[in-house]
Amino acid sequence: MPRSFAPGGAMPELTVVVPAYNEADVLETFHHRLAAVLDTLPLRCAVLYVDDGSRDASWPVIETLLARDPRAGALRLSRNFGKEAALTAGLDAVEEGAAVVIDADLQDPPELIPELVAQWRAGHDVVYATRRVREGESRFKRFTAAAFYRTMERLSDTAVPRDTGDFRLLSRRALDALGQLRERQRFMKGLFAWIGYRQVAVHYQREPRQAGRTKWNYWRLTQLAIEGITSFSNAPLRLATWVGLGAALLAFAYGLWVLGKALLYGDPVRGYPTLMVVILFLGGMQLLALGVIGEYLGRNYAESKQRPLYFVEERRPPR
Ligand code: UDP
Ligand code: MG
Repeated sequence: MPRSFAPGGAMPELTVVVPAYNEADVLETFHHRLAAVLDTLPLRCAVLYVDDGSRDASWPVIETLLARDPRAGALRLSRNFGKEAALTAGLDAVEEGAAVVIDADLQDPPELIPELVAQWRAGHDVVYATRRVREGESRFKRFTAAAFYRTMERLSDTAVPRDTGDFRLLSRRALDALGQLRERQRFMKGLFAWIGYRQVAVHYQREPRQAGRTKWNYWRLTQLAIEGITSFSNAPLRLATWVGLGAALLAFAYGLWVLGKALLYGDPVRGYPTLMVVILFLGGMQLLALGVIGEYLGRNYAESKQRPLYFVEERRPPR
C-alpha cells in the first residue's frame, strides 16, 4: 500500500482498525464515541474502516465519516470475505505504528483504548481486552463459548486466552509477526496468541450490541470452533487413531470369544446379528476417521491453492 493511512502525510502512531459488515445503523454512533476517545490520546491516531462487502448503506456512511474526520480512512473489500480476512486486510494496511482492533458494533467499548495504550507504553506487545460478563447473550451461548475455550485449552499447545474477542492492541513487532502468517484458515484469536511476545490482559465489561444483529449464528460459530481446533491442534487426528485402535481391540476380543464358543459348542448357523453389529460398528468407525482426515485434507487443499486472502476494491486513505 502506498504511503497510506497517514493524516497530513505524517504516519500515525496508532491506527484503529474496524471491520464492518452491514453496520450502517451503528457506524455513526461508533465513530462519534471512538473519535471522542482518540481526541484525548496524546498520539497521532488514524481510523481504518474495512467494509467487508456490506450489502447495506455501510459504505456511504463510511464515506460521510471520512469526509468529516481527516483521521479516518477506509478499505472496501471486493466481496464479503468474513471477519478474519477483513481484519487481516486492515492490519496489512497499517504500515507504521501500532494498531487497535475493535468491532464496529460497540460491544467493545472504545473508552478502553487508553488503558490498552497504557499497557503498550509499559512495554507490552499484545494487549488484549478480556470481558468479564457477557451481557445480552443467552445462557446457552455463554455455555457453548466456555466449553469451546476449555476444549481449546486442553487440545492445543497455543493457549487462546478465555473470553477474549479480537479487541486488542498490537505493537509494531507484533503486527510484523502477524503479517507473516498468511495461512488461509485464519483463526485470528489463535494467531494473535501464537506470535508470542509480551502479552497482557485488560479486563472490561462487555455490552450488548447497540444496533443491528450479530452475524454469528450457531452454524457459523460451530464452523469457527472447528476452524480453531483443526488449525491449532492435531488432537482430532489422534482421536481417530485411538478410537480405531480401541474398536479393533474390542473386535479382536469378541472374535476370540465367538471362536471359543464355536469350538466348544459347535456352530448352529446363526451369527447374522453379530455380523451386522460388527460390520456396522467398524463401518461407522472408518467413516468417522475418514471424516476427520478429510477435514484436515480439505484445509491442506485450501492452503495449497495459495489464493490471496482478500481483494480490495477501493482504498480511501485519510486526508
Ligand atoms: N464482520 C465482518 N465481516 C463478517 C462478519 C462480521 O467484518 O463477515 C464484523 C462486524 O461488522 C463487526 C465484527 O466483525 O464489526 C464482529 O461481528 P459480530 O458483532 O457479528 O460478531 P460478535 O460480536 O457476535 O462476535
Ligand atoms: Mg458483536
